[in-house]
Amino acid sequence: MKPAPFEYVVVRSINEAIEALGRNGADSRIIAGGQSLMPSMNMRQTRPAYLVDINGITDLDYIHEISSGIAIGALTRHRAVERSEVIRSVCPILQEAVKHIAHFQIRNRGTIGGSLSLNAPGAEYGVIARLLEAEMVISSPDGKRVVPADQFFVGHFKVDLKNNEILTEIRFPSLPQGAGYSFLEVTRRHGHIPIISTAAMITLDGKDQIAEIRVILGNVSEHGVPYRVKAVDRLVGQKFNVDTIEGLAKEISDEVNPNEDADTEAAFVKQFSGMTGRRVSELASAEYRKEVAGTLSTRALKIAFKRTKGGII
Ligand SMILES: Cc1cc2nc3c(=O)[nH]c(=O)nc-3n(C[C@H](O)[C@H](O)[C@H](O)COP(=O)(O)OP(=O)(O)OC[C@H]3O[C@@H](n4cnc5c(N)ncnc54)[C@H](O)[C@@H]3O)c2cc1C
Repeated sequence: MKPAPFEYVVVRSINEAIEALGRNGADSRIIAGGQSLMPSMNMRQTRPAYLVDINGITDLDYIHEISSGIAIGALTRHRAVERSEVIRSVCPILQEAVKHIAHFQIRNRGTIGGSLSLNAPGAEYGVIARLLEAEMVISSPDGKRVVPADQFFVGHFKVDLKNNEILTEIRFPSLPQGAGYSFLEVTRRHGHIPIISTAAMITLDGKDQIAEIRVILGNVSEHGVPYRVKAVDRLVGQKFNVDTIEGLAKEISDEVNPNEDADTEAAFVKQFSGMTGRRVSELASAEYRKEVAGTLSTRALKIAFKRTKGGII
């Protein structure tokens, strides 16, 4: 199919983009890599009247090391993140996650800003953004604002962005010294959007006790946001113990509250206004997602622990 008719403008600066978006209100939409927007327009699930192409804003394509970690311009392609030497040394978990995104042709075009702004269920960047407590820099007609990841994702395919705002930069803190980390996901086949994704991070104190432990799960929350697991919090101050971790699987399964696919799909249709009937995430029952959430989290924690300084199971 072909998209419904639309007007198209190429902008060369953030200000031009904000102005173009403001001129056309709710009918306008940014296009970045087009890897999610174009298929949905071609299938007439999305029918923006006005497309603002930000690919000409070359200033938004960068990866910089900063004092707190790494700053990535919103127009940076997945492939650039995957190959960056700086990211490999400062934030390797990001690379571990990004290589799971789609196929290389899609990673060549898709952008980090597009993926985070879309907030598809289970999307890899969202899970890492919550794990590391990344910050989103947003440009609006009133200037810049910075939103932490735990506030940026607000629902299925919904983020804290108004129609005349652009996500311009994402700041990921570097992994703490000696931290162990892991990213795992379950898909039907490589390159598909995950049924469930998970990221774990553990840091130990001088006595090899857990100083910090985090697990984030994608595609298990009824609210459509990357979910931070609570069951692991009480392990702080304890030594890592495989039996304790394995014992947590059931608790994590009980803690999460995934949607059935039909609900996720309904949210997509509501957000993008259009026809029904498209699968937006891989098929899986809520029951299956609960089960996998526990297993995958404990598996990720064991890998993360092995990677801590001196972590040997
Ligand atoms: C076959 C296939 C498999 C895929 N598999 C995966 C996968 O496994 N994991 C995954 O995460 N993704 C997957 N994707 C999606 C892919 O990663 C997209 O690149 C990404 O979701 C969107 O990025 P984009 O730059 O292409 O954005 P676009 O498609 O151009 O835009 C997506 C949305 O974000 C908005 N937007 C874009 N940039 C900005 C910005 N800077 N500020 C504000 N709003 C903005 C647009 O208006 C639009 O609503 C897959 C896509 C395909 C076609």
